[in-house]
Amino acid sequence: MVIYHCDGCAKDIPPKTLRYTVTIEVKAAYDKQEIGLAELVQDHRKEILNLIHRLESQSAEEVESSVYKRMKLDLCPSCQRAYLKNPIHFHPEQAPPHTDLDIDAFLRSLGKSDSE
Ligand SMILES: [Zn+2]
Repeated sequence: MVIYHCDGCAKDIPPKTLRYTVTIEVKAAYDKQEIGLAELVQDHRKEILNLIHRLESQSAEEVESSVYKRMKLDLCPSCQRAYLKNPIHFHPEQAPPHTDLDIDAFLRSLGKSDSE
């Protein structure tokens, strides 16, 4: 049995209870560049060597993270509410109060047939 832990508050998420997953992709974004004749005929050897030199001082993970990083988080319902409220500066204690809507019970009721 897989036991999930909330990545927000670190509490265990009991089996068969509602949890949320958050997938975050952080990618380097570049504006489209036009390459002119001047750039094509320029000797870029020095720039490339400088880049290689800078990369040599970083770990492969650091280099990869500077271009692309994908993270997956598991959140308990309370942390999900806090995350939606403020995803950039997310703090579990900022979760808005729980509403009366029991989304967990609602979602579970969808899978049940009338004969149960
Ligand atoms: Zn949590």
